[in-house]
Amino acid sequence: QVVLKAYITDGRAPRKDDMAVTVSTLPELKAPKGSGGFLVKNLYLSCDPYMRGRMRPPSPASYIPSFLPSRLCQPIEGFGVSEVVDSDNPEFQAGDFIAGMTGWEEYTLIQKPQQLRKISRNHAVPLSYHLGLLGMPGFTAYCGLYELCSPKAGEFVFVSAASGAVGQIVGQLAKLEGCRVVGSAGSATKVEMLTSKMGFDAAFNYKEEADLDAALKRYFPQGIDIYFDNVGGEMLDAALLNMRVKGRIAVCGMVSQHAVTDSGPGIRNISNVIVKRIKMQGFLQSDFLHLYPRFLDHVTAHFLAGDIVYVEDVDDGLESAPAALAGLFTGENIGKKVVRVVPP
Ligand code: NDP
Repeated sequence: QVVLKAYITDGRAPRKDDMAVTVSTLPELKAPKGSGGFLVKNLYLSCDPYMRGRMRPPSPASYIPSFLPSRLCQPIEGFGVSEVVDSDNPEFQAGDFIAGMTGWEEYTLIQKPQQLRKISRNHAVPLSYHLGLLGMPGFTAYCGLYELCSPKAGEFVFVSAASGAVGQIVGQLAKLEGCRVVGSAGSATKVEMLTSKMGFDAAFNYKEEADLDAALKRYFPQGIDIYFDNVGGEMLDAALLNMRVKGRIAVCGMVSQHAVTDSGPGIRNISNVIVKRIKMQGFLQSDFLHLYPRFLDHVTAHFLAGDIVYVEDVDDGLESAPAALAGLFTGENIGKKVVRVVPP
């Protein structure tokens, strides 16, 4: 099991040693009779930036509930793909594959299914993709792009953290709509992957740009119609300066802000929202769950037709999970970060 040792009380990003790998033994590989629960073997676990929010002490201001105090030193909760091994619930049979909330451990007894769906096995789609392309990150890309930004052919789209779990899908969906798409990412390898593998029109390494405003002017001489913001901070500020009139900004995440301990210069260019009549909206994918079936049909069809590729970064073994999660905040992942619980 991977457990959180204590809440992270300052603003910093999680570190590997905030978590520990512990061992406990199940009495038997069975779901207790009369429990209505089912026992799953976890196959893949998802590392997601939102999990940082669950590691802070409970606060009414947070958009996501912290791990309960009673769960400290209990396995971390997160999305996973699992196989049912024994069931006392008629809706789930041994042998079913499921995607949803589970524990960071080898086996989990699920009593109350949360955000859980059965996976109909299609061997053309790797099981782990149900944590990325067909899971919460892919869905975030889909609802943020279509519901907030209404992309139209010929529009100019900018995506930050573009090679990650969400960003790579945003860019590819926008390309399918006929947009011109530019992504930013934090290494030469990621930048190369965006243009050579994911079909972005251009990409740049934001760490090599002393002036983000100048970089955006170089890539968007006519301005940006849609900015899909995964990072917040200085990149959002620079994008505000470069938006076109009636542009749209989907505020998806602010991963650059986890490590920020002082308030810094803040967002200085917000008045552009008025001057350029920009629609800027924050969102949570969970607001749109009614669209999930439509998303699954749309993205699965494009994937099977070869219109969309998906890049994962897989680490093996539960022991690798703490470093895998912490690495999201230093940009170590190249694509969607997943932990394969049982190496092949
Ligand atoms: P990624 O797979 O993109 O991993 C995180 C990436 O963020 C890193 O690889 C790194 O890429 C980048 N990053 C880390 N630190 C910084 C920094 N200081 N400045 C700029 N970039 C940084 O994660 P996801 O695709 O899963 O998530 C992307 C964003 O979407 C996150 O902000 C997340 O919180 C948000 N999100 C929001 C949801 C919603 O419902 N609103 C749902 C899901 C995700 P690089 O090397 O390019 O810097």
